[in-house]
Amino acid sequence: MNALPQQPDSPALPPPEGMLIPTMDVAGRRRWLSPHLVKGMWWKRRGIVACVLIAIYAITPFLSYRNLPLVQFDIPARRLVFFGTVLRPTDTLLLALLTLIAFVTLFWLTAMLGRVWCGWACPQTVYLEFVFRPLQRWLLGERKSAHAAKPAAWRVVTLAAAYIVVSAHLSNTFVAWFVGAKPLAHAMFSPPSQHPVAFTTFVAMTLAMLFLFGYFREQLCSIVCPYGRLQSVLLDRRSLIVGYDALRGEPRGKLTAGCGTSKGQCVDCNLCVRTCPAGIDIRKGLQMECVHCTQCIDACDKVMTTLNLPLGLIRYGSQASFETGKQQRRALLVGVPRFTESQASFETGKQQRRLRPRVVIYPIILLGLITAFGLVLAARSPLALTQLRIQDERFTTDDAGSIRTPVRVRLDNRTDTLRVCEIRADASTTLVGIAAVIVPAFEGIETEFTLISAPEHFTRGRRSVALRVIDNLDSSLEATVTILGPMTLPPLNTQDSEEPQQKESTP
Ligand code: SF4
Ligand code: SF4
Repeated sequence: MNALPQQPDSPALPPPEGMLIPTMDVAGRRRWLSPHLVKGMWWKRRGIVACVLIAIYAITPFLSYRNLPLVQFDIPARRLVFFGTVLRPTDTLLLALLTLIAFVTLFWLTAMLGRVWCGWACPQTVYLEFVFRPLQRWLLGERKSAHAAKPAAWRVVTLAAAYIVVSAHLSNTFVAWFVGAKPLAHAMFSPPSQHPVAFTTFVAMTLAMLFLFGYFREQLCSIVCPYGRLQSVLLDRRSLIVGYDALRGEPRGKLTAGCGTSKGQCVDCNLCVRTCPAGIDIRKGLQMECVHCTQCIDACDKVMTTLNLPLGLIRYGSQASFETGKQQRRALLVGVPRFTESQASFETGKQQRRLRPRVVIYPIILLGLITAFGLVLAARSPLALTQLRIQDERFTTDDAGSIRTPVRVRLDNRTDTLRVCEIRADASTTLVGIAAVIVPAFEGIETEFTLISAPEHFTRGRRSVALRVIDNLDSSLEATVTILGPMTLPPLNTQDSEEPQQKESTP
């Protein structure tokens, strides 16, 4: 039998009594974690996923499609660009559907695969575990004891410099998702005085990244992020989790000569605890701090390999399968993939094939939302007209007694073709002060004009006017604007002035 991995006097052993959370005591003092890295099968798989995600994060702002950024949260221009589609705040229904699609997808994934987002795809986990911590291990080495010698000063300074460089890169990439790669490059190579807002944002983001990845770290998941706290309602007993097989592992204890089969297979080596970046002991059951990073699976599999015991004492499974010892094969609908099952569960268990309601209801809702989103998007007019507030919206009465009201609108072109638009008012209104409006592709143009109407068209000081927008590509759009006018009719004669007042008093 091979020797067990050495057990250092690690600061990452189970938190002592009196801890508020694994990284903070009741007095609010920080408990620093220095997780021991175990490079097993799951670590390698997560590494591949992390590389792909980091590449997507860094490259996407530089990609374009149909002369637009591929994805951009363009806050200055108040638009969301998404694979050739531009959504503006006025696309309320589409934005609401998109938000619902994102939430239901997250709920569905969580119901099936547990906290797969936290452990595999969340930028916090990806950058902390695959960029910042590796840099720290490379420059400072692994801290195996609370009493270990302090690293050389030059190593600490080099690490700080590396953190600043990576944080600056992350900050630039983050800003590029909002302003686009070209404006960002222009701002980067110009004096900060020419782009004070961009420069301030860059500095603030860099400091935020340094704080997050250099100091705050795993506390973001356990203190700030609300997703972990939602687990109790999003998970059920058959969701995929990382868990400890207590039926097989207990009673735990050190291996001693002659202990025979009186003990479980957990040798209480604590390697699963020392490797945990959340600072918890998976053997105490499912905990809110567990981000399902799989490090404890790799750690325990390493121990089991050393002891020549079956792998999977800690493994992917469901709470139901851990409690009953029954295997659960189809995680996506009814169980867990075969490779995640332990030999014990294959020998003892029966398959659980019953469908769970939530893994059927969520995809049905999701399908409905995606269909609705597609239909609304397809039916969307290529043009949009939005009435804007105008600073001096006062109407005037001209010599002929007509009411002249200024109107300000925004015309949006939702297509990739330049459009020349003409705005017409309904037959009861005259529109003056505007010629053709040229609206470039995917742009919006604000314009002002005056509407002239007879005073008797106003009720309680306002009226609606139907506008029709026609463009050079034969698209048309009907829209309504509300304009202000007189509260009562001017007293031309006694008979005329009484009629509308009587109308207004009618409920
Ligand atoms: S569960 Fe595995 S890694 Fe954890 S203490 Fe037991 S044997 Fe060691
Ligand atoms: S308990 Fe295991 S899966 Fe959960 S955070 Fe710790 S190491 Fe990762």
